[in-house]
Amino acid sequence: MFEQFTTSDRNLGPADLDVLPRFAGPHTFARLPRLDQVSRYDIAVVGVPFDAGTSYRPGARFGPQAIRMGSKLLREYHPHLNAEPFHTQQVVDAGDIGCDPFSIHEAMGAIERGADALLDTGAKLVTLGGDHTIAVPLLRAMHRVHGPVALVHFDAHLDTWETHFNARFTHGTPFRRAAEERLFVVDHSMHVGIRGSVYDRGDYGADADLGFGIIGTWETDDIGVKGVIERLRDRIDGYPVYLSIDIDVLDPAFAPGTGTPEIGGFSTRELAAILRGLQGMPIVGLDVVEVAPAYDHAEVTALAAANVAYDVIAMMAPQRGEPAVTPQTVAAAGTVA
Ligand code: MN
Ligand code: MN
Repeated sequence: MFEQFTTSDRNLGPADLDVLPRFAGPHTFARLPRLDQVSRYDIAVVGVPFDAGTSYRPGARFGPQAIRMGSKLLREYHPHLNAEPFHTQQVVDAGDIGCDPFSIHEAMGAIERGADALLDTGAKLVTLGGDHTIAVPLLRAMHRVHGPVALVHFDAHLDTWETHFNARFTHGTPFRRAAEERLFVVDHSMHVGIRGSVYDRGDYGADADLGFGIIGTWETDDIGVKGVIERLRDRIDGYPVYLSIDIDVLDPAFAPGTGTPEIGGFSTRELAAILRGLQGMPIVGLDVVEVAPAYDHAEVTALAAANVAYDVIAMMAPQRGEPAVTPQTVAAAGTVA
């Protein structure tokens, strides 16, 4: 069946709602065109259905398809960021990278090659995971284009442990490997949303030695969302930003569908506010990982992940220069009672 996409400028947007209702398709991220339906793109959304690096609950291999289903309700104007992310830039769904479920090594090679191919055009990359192991090949591909990035890592967990069962590449170790490979800028990278128990008294010190800063949830009640944003913007300091968002940074009430839940996390509203506070920063890539839909209820986690990706895609969009249209501006203009 022919899918009629909306258009604006030179870009192909989501499928037209007057032709296809949301639940009918296409089943791409935000009902966007596929890679083979466009001649060029500014942002590629790609799925990485891989969870062989998981230490506890498996199932993040089903994350990409769940996030795509959770993205069905995304609409074309983002009033809080004053952006039309699917019209001022060409966003496409590049499908999934085929990952070997029996070999972490093979899968990482495929992810790196897949990311390289998509970045080769000068595009930005938005990756739907998958477990957090995938951050290593993604950061390698990013490094090839941008050099070391300011890594802003949202997670309940540090993910800088040495090994699990002597395995060096797992979802608990990606950022130690990234440090060893010098993939991020030391002293300009940050973990956000850290909490919960750790393995050893020395874990925080070992993490700091790698060049990370930490914003833990134990301090966010005091400094608030504004304080978090301020510290992040200071830390980034103009470097190209790569966002790696483990959905377990959210409280299990807001993201039950994940592999290693920790109590006391952010609400989806807090996470959205922190992310939106980074508007204007040079964001070059994003991954949203650890969505495991088998433990989800009513798509809560998938909806959160889809909206996180939407917010970041909107922050990547060029600004048109027209003033924002919000309920407040409309009321101020006197067009509502
Ligand atoms: Mn985590
Ligand atoms: Mn993680």
